[in-house]
Amino acid sequence: MDTTIFETTESEVRSYCRSWPTVFSQASGSILTDEQGREYIDFFAGAGALNYGHNNPELRTELLEYLSSDALVHSMDKMTPAKREFLQTFKDIILEPRGLDYKVMFPGPTGTNTVEAALKLARKVTGRQHILSFTNAFHGMTLGSLSVTGNSMKRKGAGMTLTNSSKIPYDDYLDGETPDFLWLKRVLEDSGSGVDKPAAIIVETVQGEGGLNAARHEWLRGLRELTKEHDILLIVDDVQAGCGRTGSFFSFEEAGITPDIVCLSKSISGYGLPMALTLFSPELDVWAPGEHNGTFRGHNPAFVTATAALRRYWADDSFQNGHLVKVIEMVQDALTKIAIEVEGTSVKGRGLLTGLRFSDTDVAGKISAKAFEKGLLMETSGPEDEVIKLMPALNIDLVVLERGLNILADCVSEVTG
Ligand code: PMP
Repeated sequence: MDTTIFETTESEVRSYCRSWPTVFSQASGSILTDEQGREYIDFFAGAGALNYGHNNPELRTELLEYLSSDALVHSMDKMTPAKREFLQTFKDIILEPRGLDYKVMFPGPTGTNTVEAALKLARKVTGRQHILSFTNAFHGMTLGSLSVTGNSMKRKGAGMTLTNSSKIPYDDYLDGETPDFLWLKRVLEDSGSGVDKPAAIIVETVQGEGGLNAARHEWLRGLRELTKEHDILLIVDDVQAGCGRTGSFFSFEEAGITPDIVCLSKSISGYGLPMALTLFSPELDVWAPGEHNGTFRGHNPAFVTATAALRRYWADDSFQNGHLVKVIEMVQDALTKIAIEVEGTSVKGRGLLTGLRFSDTDVAGKISAKAFEKGLLMETSGPEDEVIKLMPALNIDLVVLERGLNILADCVSEVTG
């Protein structure tokens, strides 16, 4: 194959094309096939947008029926049966059983749109401008979400980012050297800190792009208490960790906290269609009609597949307490085994937002490249790309999963051995 096309005609902006120099032409569940007929096991799942695999047959049936029925595809803010059904299903299956009372907003097609809406809402509600976020956080590529992103490499050249945002250390960023929240408490209690009282703190429970750092549940509970005590809104960005990836529908459920605002996107449509939600406590609804708008916020085909995914996977506990537990167990066991055997390696993350960190920062990239050669797709994560990241579909077939985990183990021993 002529691979120069991957070097010469593709933009520098996205790198997956360079890491995986082939043309993928078919996809089914957790298997991708390229134009040469070569199969790849997918431990990438559209960067978390395909939690139920590619071309999920049950969701596809609903989608095709909808598309062939002359129902509205694009409707902007108009109500449609597809939108009404999604809202009702989300309330019945997700919010009410968890005792959550949120208003639902469609902020635009993708993850960064929900983060922008959350930041804007928090500022409007509190009348304060400052936003706190964390070291190594990732929240998106538009200027507001980029401002609260921790990795300065991502902000390179984006001179217009917000000046009234600051980063504070994420859980264990200082390797336990500093007592929990010491700096945050000083900021909130001490007017001499130089940091204005924030409108909100935005946090990921597991930092998906920032190296799979998983905050301890006690730490998240402490953050919730502190924000409440100081009348600051807590935004959980569940764009990557949500929709079941850490083992429960919302990642923050496991810590037993209720954020004021929640950002969801990636796998909420269930089928890889663009869709995002911003959830917020009813008392925060200060939007004037039409104040926050956008052409593609709330798209009917995405509502259809989202509703089907909620009904298929979340209507009761059988998927969460059955297949999902088994997949998490197999992945975590495989990673733990490698970490015990290979010096300088540690298991990162939680649930299926997980991976391995290598003390030698060159190793993860080499493993990802070797995995591609052997038919396995995995990306890297972390400020120095020092972490190999596993994000298989939640419903991955267990035989396929085992094959992928064996390839991973082989690649690690070949690269580090
Ligand atoms: N927040 C988090 C936690 C993310 O992981 C991402 C995407 N990786 C985003 C926001 C931005 O989402 P999008 O790329 O869809 O704009």
